[in-house]
Amino acid sequence: MTRIAFIGLGNMGGGMAANQARAGRPVMAFDLSAQAVERAVAAGCQAAGSVAEAVAQADVVITMLPAGPHVRGVYAEQILVHALKSALLLDCSTIDVESARAVAAQARAAGFRFADAPVSGGIMAAEAGTLAFMVGCDAADFPDVEAALAPMSRVTIHAGEHGAGQAAKICNNMLLGISMIGTCEAFALAEKLGLAADRFFEIASKSSGQCWSVSTYCPVPGVGPSTPADRGYEGGFATAMMLKDLKLAQEAAARAGAATPMGAQAEALYALFEANGFGGKDFSAIIELMRGRLDTLQAG
Ligand code: NAD
Repeated sequence: MTRIAFIGLGNMGGGMAANQARAGRPVMAFDLSAQAVERAVAAGCQAAGSVAEAVAQADVVITMLPAGPHVRGVYAEQILVHALKSALLLDCSTIDVESARAVAAQARAAGFRFADAPVSGGIMAAEAGTLAFMVGCDAADFPDVEAALAPMSRVTIHAGEHGAGQAAKICNNMLLGISMIGTCEAFALAEKLGLAADRFFEIASKSSGQCWSVSTYCPVPGVGPSTPADRGYEGGFATAMMLKDLKLAQEAAARAGAATPMGAQAEALYALFEANGFGGKDFSAIIELMRGRLDTLQAG
């Protein structure tokens, strides 16, 4: 049975590690937070006292950490030093492309197989085992990567070489941020023009304005499928997380010399929304900024 080491048991990693254990795989789990480790143990994992202990016997090492510096540090100082050379190393965190490529190069130089495998889907998908993984790795390694991720995954797609998974993630989320703002503007304008939101939803979701932000994740309460808008914009995908991804996209665009003016605008608007105290709200709540109704939202 594939022995898993799981490092980073936060909002996402906790549910993901639990699904590995549920699949019958022995999981050695480590987090800097003792509470997070306790939750993982309650979900069927074994507690490790350090990264070194977690990875020592693992066939697959999975990391789910906050950002690039955490990933660089944990791999350089712990995993590449203590893991078995035969281990498959998978970083599922959302980080900058440069860090992903740097860690991949270090891992390869040390004789390891590595993949960047960020996810689409939030905490509920992490708990349900229905995340979408976008993977940057050598093509020859992809079947093993896919098998390792299977208990946590609805779909796993090979994006290309190292770093391509992170590139796919930030391009997708930049597009999502832009489309959500466009959707919010359109609903706010429709309202000012006296057009009922449910009528506009029905028309736009069947017309050329159709997109995921309109049809599946409508920012207006009571319209379309159930979304965070129906729950006071609680849960879902936090504005602070969207802003993190938009910043990564802008940094990548600057380095690559790509013109992304709409992505830059989306970043500025989400930064403004967060600065008003709404970093914890679902990212679709930005409709209240477009409506000039921030006073109706409770900060969070
Ligand atoms: P989180 O802050 O809840 O969890 C991160 C965990 O990493 C924490 O428990 C922290 O204690 C632990 N950690 C930090 N440094 C560590 C170290 N050196 N050794 C061991 N553990 C360490 O964050 P999250 O919401 O679980 O997100 C994790 C990653 O997933 C991020 O990169 C995020 O961008 C990405 N992501 C999150 C979501 C989401 O909806 N939350 C969705 C998609 C992707």
